[in-house]
Amino acid sequence: MRSPKIIFHNNAQFASCPNCKSQGSLRRSKSHNNWEQFVTKFTFFRYYRCRECGWRGTKSNYTLTSVSFKNLITYFIIAAVAGYLVKFILTNFIIK
Ligand SMILES: [Zn+2]
Repeated sequence: MRSPKIIFHNNAQFASCPNCKSQGSLRRSKSHNNWEQFVTKFTFFRYYRCRECGWRGTKSNYTLTSVSFKNLITYFIIAAVAGYLVKFILTNFIIK
């Protein structure tokens, strides 16, 4: 069976560096100011530093995949059909 998930968790430490593309070189970096603390506390983004090239920036621990979009569209269609059915029943059988 397909996974019903929309967002997939992945560990950014095993992702490749956006700057030098080396694999597994990213390490978590401490937030340096209030804005970075806010970002790490309230968003899915975390600060990482590359041990190979010194790149520092945010990466998300969550990713959207093509399965995510299929699931999202499926949920949207189900919601639309359910909404239409409720409206149909209300206007034809209940409200006269
Ligand atoms: Zn790098």
